[in-house]
Amino acid sequence: MSRTGGKSDLPKKEKNGQSSNKMKSNALKASGALLDVSNIETLYGKITALKGVSISVKEGDIVTILGANGAGKTTVLKTIIGLLDDQPEKGKIVFKGKNIERKKADHVVSLGISYVPEGREVFPELTVKENLKMGSYIRSDKEEIAKDYDRVIRYFPILEERAKQLAGTLSGGEQQMLAIARGLMSRPKLLMLDEPSLGLAPILVKEIFNIIKTINDEGTTILLVEQNANMALKIADFGYVLETGRIVLSDTTENLMENDDVKEFYLGVAKEESVKGYKRYKRKKRWR
Ligand code: ATP
Repeated sequence: MSRTGGKSDLPKKEKNGQSSNKMKSNALKASGALLDVSNIETLYGKITALKGVSISVKEGDIVTILGANGAGKTTVLKTIIGLLDDQPEKGKIVFKGKNIERKKADHVVSLGISYVPEGREVFPELTVKENLKMGSYIRSDKEEIAKDYDRVIRYFPILEERAKQLAGTLSGGEQQMLAIARGLMSRPKLLMLDEPSLGLAPILVKEIFNIIKTINDEGTTILLVEQNANMALKIADFGYVLETGRIVLSDTTENLMENDDVKEFYLGVAKEESVKGYKRYKRKKRWR
């Protein structure tokens, strides 16, 4: 199966798995990981949600974390950004060479990580423009903020049309666009997106993924948590599969798309057909 197979008109990857834009920007980049998460354990009270998770995100890449409900995907992102008090209990998180584990979210954002939570958390009583301003609250460089405003409007022109509208009255898709745009207003090196496709119509999902790919091609590294494995694997460079707080698989997206377990669990590739001709999805008990 080709990584860009099917009917999707997402930006195509070239033979070596990279778009030409990406290859150009990769050539300028230093090697090495932008983010290194080593063996983190995160607890909610007495419950251990992450049981020694390690992930690495190279500068310029899109890295995706796949996993079923409750696997711990959101917990990974919240632990990195510093939203869980006194967590991780164990392990290290290094961003741009600096240890950031157990640092407060404000500090982590100021270092260059932005987090767009699941569920389009916009400020409903503020206008679109005010929401975008909130995204740049840690900055004082007015001219550069104006440039970033223009940049996010280029990605999401609808937000300019709705600039004075209260965010709470936007459609679900528009709120998701606003949430991503607000995340970009801090000009992050690393943008972490939690389920950006959740609850959106297929056409809008495709649009959002196209924009995520463009944002990446223009230089922002992305850590993407998704249940829509089909779309995530098409745009990502590398992926991790998380299951009940542990990484059970990690590989390039090309290899993950060929992996039988990934096909069966996440890509909905049918294994059997019933006598009535219905596709049946065989459930495996454990990972190989
Ligand atoms: P989903 O795809 O459904 O969003 P997820 O992979 O993001 O799931 P998490 O939200 O990270 O999973 O949850 C991991 C585990 O931690 C789950 O068992 C969940 O019930 C538990 N958990 C999450 N938040 C809390 C909390 N605030 N208190 C206690 N347990 C929690």
